[in-house]
Amino acid sequence: MTDNACVRCGTVTPPHDVVSVASPDGGFRLLCSRCFNTEMAYLADVQAFEHPAFTSVRLPDADGVVHEFHFRSLLFGDQLSLEALELASGDEDRAGFRFQLLGDPRSDPFELLGDLLQKMKRALAVKHLVEDAGHLVVAETTFRGRIEWDGNENDRLPCVVIDGRRVDWPDFGAMLMAFEGWQFRIELVDPSDEA
Ligand SMILES: [Zn+2]
Repeated sequence: MTDNACVRCGTVTPPHDVVSVASPDGGFRLLCSRCFNTEMAYLADVQAFEHPAFTSVRLPDADGVVHEFHFRSLLFGDQLSLEALELASGDEDRAGFRFQLLGDPRSDPFELLGDLLQKMKRALAVKHLVEDAGHLVVAETTFRGRIEWDGNENDRLPCVVIDGRRVDWPDFGAMLMAFEGWQFRIELVDPSDEA
């Protein structure tokens, strides 16, 4: 756990709340989000910035399955990024829902949290994958997900995360075979822009 100690304040934080920051000497420093924001507020001259820390929330999806989300707020110059991360169990760090919103760092962070919670609830209410005869299939002809690296050092292939579930690239291909002969349109959307 000492791997995740913040070099500035020494606090040992969970991995999702640690930021790796490039140093001028080419190395990297691990900072907790609070110290990252303190440094960024100083560098970007954001006056009287207060680091918002929110407790985790639990939200049900369309099937009533409860998902626990942890929040991370990072100041990026003139924008405050608020993320909600679902920490998947075990060593699977690619699965799980993730949401992000950008807002004005001078506005009330609870307003940003409220907007993010609305976005999360909207997304959780929709299921894009359904089980059919033991296989996962897409429920509609439009579906959303997140692109992640599959974690295999030997290649640079993606996996996708749909409904918070990791789907490996060959399995995703198998799902698409239900639409053999169809055309497709891909739109890539920044996480903070996604409705
Ligand atoms: Zn710190």
